[in-house]
Order: sequence, then structure tokens, then C-alpha cells
Amino acid sequence: MKAAFCTLGCKVNQYDTEAMRELFENAGYETVDFSEPADVYVVNTCTVTATGDKKSRQMISRAHALSPDAKIVVAGCYAQRSPEEVLAMPGVSLVIGAKDRLRVVELTEALGKEKKTAVGELKWEHTFEPLTASREGRTRAHLKIQEGCDRFCTYCIIPYARGPIRSRPLVEVRAELTKLANAGYKEVVLTGIHLMSYGRDLEKGVTLLDAIREADDIDGIERIRLGSLEPQMLTDEFVSTLANNKKVCRQFHLSLQSGSKTVLERMHRRYTPEEYAECVRRLREKMPECAVTTDIIVGFPGETEQEFEETLQFARDVALARIHVFPYSRREGTVAASMPGQLSRGVKAARASKLGTLAKELEQQYASSFVGTVQDVLFEEREGECVSGHTDTYLKVLIPADEDDLSNRFLRVRIEKAAEGVLYGRSEAEQH
Ligand code: SF4
Repeated sequence: MKAAFCTLGCKVNQYDTEAMRELFENAGYETVDFSEPADVYVVNTCTVTATGDKKSRQMISRAHALSPDAKIVVAGCYAQRSPEEVLAMPGVSLVIGAKDRLRVVELTEALGKEKKTAVGELKWEHTFEPLTASREGRTRAHLKIQEGCDRFCTYCIIPYARGPIRSRPLVEVRAELTKLANAGYKEVVLTGIHLMSYGRDLEKGVTLLDAIREADDIDGIERIRLGSLEPQMLTDEFVSTLANNKKVCRQFHLSLQSGSKTVLERMHRRYTPEEYAECVRRLREKMPECAVTTDIIVGFPGETEQEFEETLQFARDVALARIHVFPYSRREGTVAASMPGQLSRGVKAARASKLGTLAKELEQQYASSFVGTVQDVLFEEREGECVSGHTDTYLKVLIPADEDDLSNRFLRVRIEKAAEGVLYGRSEAEQH
């Protein structure tokens, strides 16, 4: 039996798809490309923007056109939020809720030869669903340690689609890290929908720092990279602990969303640009070379030219190393969807393009600051005549490839050039 998988949306979804793929493979299925005929297609959907919904529907239709008799299993945020809409689509056999992802194979097979539509349980489980980690090549794995969010930022559909906060218990985090170390992974990205909420539903006093510390004495795991963080939680103590931990990568994805105080208030983001800037200062004081990367939404309802200019200025002032730009997407059911001052697609596109240009400049500016330095690089794969890897600050590095297979090895690299945010250099000596 052949199964094909497709993921829309974020890293957390990628993680969930990988975990479901592993369950199918363990049950004897062969994974094939999504463009090939298969017996089962799993579409892990996204609803974070209207485009997410649209692309999810396109992938379902594509699978149905390719193999009209295949079972199509739909999971993820769009399916969770609009199960009836998904079920009504031709070819959909099963809509599966977050609670039932672990039973995906069993539920798919229970459909039997007689294809019928069934809905998995769409209620939330209040404990963490113990899916395994997703792996990226031989080097880096993503370990989801937290699910759900209860912040209800006014533009965001996630709390409705992903449910309440659930954290993976520390003993499981440790067991997964050990498994990944034994499988040869040197870098683990700790991910979650709202990572900073990690531990709130566990024993009193457990925080994200405890989950990070689990890796301290696990040989083989050399880098811990953190998923998205929020400014208000980066206290002095938190930053000092990160800075003193040799495994924590000096790249921090600190969600900004807007550099305008008034827009942040309307987004219900609970921090001001000044507080954000203070966190960046705190991080740089302890880790001067660290990369601060972010997400910014442009064209939020009522965003004036002046407010947008404030965002541009703020991004420049704090010298963000990388910006993921998102034009605001109206999601029915959120508070912002019914706010006055919805902007046209044209205005949002123009602002996204302007911020995108600035993002490229800042990326190159940050990368250039590494020219002449020597960096530890964890290499991943060959790219033509070169081999590529990343610094702990998540800058891509290319060096000329030699005969040796450098993947999953650390090398010290002298950086000679930076172009379009990518570093080029030569190896000095192997590290580990
Ligand atoms: S913190 Fe805000 S933006 Fe992030 S998932 Fe929660 S509600 Fe959405």
C-alpha cells in the first residue's frame, strides 16, 4: 500500500505530518511523492490565512484527481476549524481531529473497502499527543514540546484551531532527545504553537528553561534551537540562562507583528515597541552576535501610512536579522475580521513588498557583520560544487566541497564573503 503526504503551513504542521508518516510506515505503507498515484493521501491543512484554506483545498482536489479511488485523510487546522466544509469536498474519506492523529492508520483502515466519510473526534485532548519528532535531513530534528494557545491575538485563528495549552512532560522531552541523539541528530529545534507557555499545565514552576536543560547532559545533541518566543517573557534571568547554556543557539525568533504601538494594541499583543527593543538589547548585551528574527504582519485593519512607517523605522532601528513578512489575512471568527478599516489587497501587497525589500537589506547587513570572523558550522548537504550548513545564528554557509562527506559534521569556517544573506568561506579545521 502506498501513502502520500502533503503539509501546508508552519513547522508545527510539518512535525505532525512527519509523525503521521512514521505511523503509516510502521504499519507497512510505502511513502510516495504527493504527485504519484497512492492508496492513501494525507493532507495536513493550514488555516492561518485565507491562502492556507485555498491551498489546502487545492491539494485535496489534486489528490482526488490523481487517484479517484484513494482514501483522502484530512488533518490540521483547516480541517479542525471547518470539518463540514472539508467533508463536503469530493474524495475526502476522513477528517481527523488533533485528538486522533495517533490513531490515523487505524481510523483510515477502518474505512474499509466501502469508501465512506467519517469524522474523527474533533474535541481537544487536554494532554499532549505524544507524536514523535520530525527530522530534517540527517542533521536537524524538530521536537514539538507544546501545543495550543490561549492568547487570542485579535487577528489569529490558531487558538480556535489548535485548542488550549498542552505541554509535553519533561520525561518525554528527555526520552525524545535521547532517541534523536542515538539516531545521530546533532541539532534539535524545540517547537510549539506558543512555546513560551510551555509548562503552564505541568507541575508548578516548570518552564521552557527546564525543557531546554533536559538536553544539557545528553551527549550527541550539540545544538538546541528555539522556536518562536515572545518579548514579555524574556526576563534578565531567562536571557542569562540562555546565554550561559552552551547548547542554545544564538538565534531568537521574537515575534514582533508590528512596530507601531497603536497597531500592537489593536492586535492585543501585550507589549509595546519599546519593550520589544528592550528585550533585543538584553539579548545583545549577553550575546552580541545573536540573530533576532521575526514575523511582521502588514496591512492590519486600520493600519495607516504613518503606522506602517513606524514599523519600517522600528525594524531598521533594532536591525532585525530576518523578517518573515505576512500581508494581513482576514479570518472569519476572529476579532480583527470585523474591525473597521480593512485594507485593499493592493495596499497590503505594496506594504509587504516595501518591507520585504528592507528585510533583504537587513539580512545582508547582518550577514556582512560576520565577514572576517571564524564560525562553527554544522554542515548538512552538498549543493553542486559546494557543501552547505548553518551557523548557530542560522546563517547559511557555503564552502567548496571536497571528497569527504561533510554532512552532519562541525567545521570551523573562516567567513570570506556575504551575498544576499548567505556566507561563503573556507574550512579551518574540523571541530567535533
Ligand atoms: S500568540 Fe497570538 S499569534 Fe501566536 S498563536 Fe497565539 S493567538 Fe496566534
